[in-house]
Amino acid sequence: MKTYDYDLFVIGGGSGGVRAARVAASDVGVRVALAEEDRYGGTCVIRGCVPKKLMVFASEFSSIPSLAKGYGWDCETSNFDWSVFRSNLNSELSRLEIIYRQLLKNSGVETFDARACVKSPNTIELSTGEIKTAKTILIATGGKPARPEIPNAEFGIVSDDIFNLKKLPKSILIVGGGYIACEFACIFNGLGVEVTQYYRGNQILRGFDNEARGIVAESMIENGINLHLDTNISEMGPVNDDSTGVEAKDTVTAVGAAAEIIGGYSSAGKDCQQFPICVKSTKGITQEFDIVLFATGRNPNSKNLGIEALGVELGERGEVVVDALSQTKNETIYAIGDVTNRINLTPVAIREGMAFVDTVFKGKPTAVNHKLIPSAVFTQPEIGTIGLSEEIASTREKVEVYTTTFRPMQTAFAGKSDRAMMKLVVSVATRKVLGCHIVAPNAGEMIQMAGIAINMGATKEDFDRTIAVHPTMSEEIVTMKSPTRVA
Ligand code: NDP
Repeated sequence: MKTYDYDLFVIGGGSGGVRAARVAASDVGVRVALAEEDRYGGTCVIRGCVPKKLMVFASEFSSIPSLAKGYGWDCETSNFDWSVFRSNLNSELSRLEIIYRQLLKNSGVETFDARACVKSPNTIELSTGEIKTAKTILIATGGKPARPEIPNAEFGIVSDDIFNLKKLPKSILIVGGGYIACEFACIFNGLGVEVTQYYRGNQILRGFDNEARGIVAESMIENGINLHLDTNISEMGPVNDDSTGVEAKDTVTAVGAAAEIIGGYSSAGKDCQQFPICVKSTKGITQEFDIVLFATGRNPNSKNLGIEALGVELGERGEVVVDALSQTKNETIYAIGDVTNRINLTPVAIREGMAFVDTVFKGKPTAVNHKLIPSAVFTQPEIGTIGLSEEIASTREKVEVYTTTFRPMQTAFAGKSDRAMMKLVVSVATRKVLGCHIVAPNAGEMIQMAGIAINMGATKEDFDRTIAVHPTMSEEIVTMKSPTRVA
């Protein structure tokens, strides 16, 4: 029988790859190696969910003094110091990265700080020049932010760059209407930055329940975000470049510098350079911003891995095409997480990694159920959601919609106009709750719990039987007696 250096070689040290490697090595006891070219922890830990959530926390403090005043506290807002936050953030991310490395080591996974390329169905070449062989290869290389293909787009930053900004901008233009655009619009607004957001469609957060996205959009505007719908960038360039009246040679220098610094930052940990940008919108408005942030989607990180030459199929956006068991068209190569562009969420990648180990090493073919996945958008207020929106559900069957909007007690007492919403979409035929949508502070925490019931097939009557926890916001989810409408 042919022998290999390892039973499993994982390419990519993000959430999915690390989990698969650890479980295969420690639970099953197979020989595992993992290569990571950048920092361990991947997008979620180093430049995504974790630093983003810490920025959400940082930004929420700005509203606390005015809230506290309503309760009799005498407190003032003082200044936010980006350099203190950034330094603490970097320390925390370094701590987490060390934990990730340690977890792999303790599980017996051999790690390589190198880029890996697949040379044959069982051979991996590392950027160090080493050649390794493995019985199975797992691609877990994640995704990376995409910039629109417009002239001077390189002057904008992407989400990876945010955590390395040298100083907090005074103004920012955020382009996009998805998770990242909306979350960072709220974060920067909370940190005191003047935020303008352009979204090319007629309402942000396409795909989410219409009522939920409407309330979030209204709240964002009320909180001071300059949200421009049906708007995109028509032209952009550094302030003082040719198009705005300055000599071309300045532009060339600036382009070179921006490309070098922004491109080189993530692995080198350099500061992200900042250029004032002049933008003309498709509505004809010209405005200057300290920073333009493109939050215009992410592309699978599948380029230059050598897999296409081995028969692995890539989709339109470069996603690695896999079957329900995460196997590619080449039987020794599997892929999980954002590189497969199924549902690009950390817990999904982790679940896919564990299912891969069950399938390949435990003799239990396991397909991840990609339906009924709860998720949250960390806007202010948050959205927590699971299942079908009212719009989608009502095209499939007759549904009852139970919905309530109200002013949360905590902020209403202080005279604030914040609004919350709870909504259940219920099948008339089966009584099952098909969708639950919450817009409220901590909606992400609430939807995790509702998600258990809905995954178990809970009916509206199951919700009704549950006694309310009083006084809470989430009690509304079990006290909605009559449908608001039938759709
Ligand atoms: P999304 O796909 O959510 O949103 C991309 C946005 O950019 C859309 O509004 C899209 O418009 C717009 N867009 C795309 N191309 C262009 C263009 N050329 N010009 C102008 N606008 C454009 O991507 P994100 O980058 O926000 O997030 C990527 C993924 O990361 C998410 O899908 C999610 O899976 C994950 N994520 C999850 C988070 C969470 O769980 N809280 C947080 C952050 C990210 P249109 O709608 O018209 O297509």
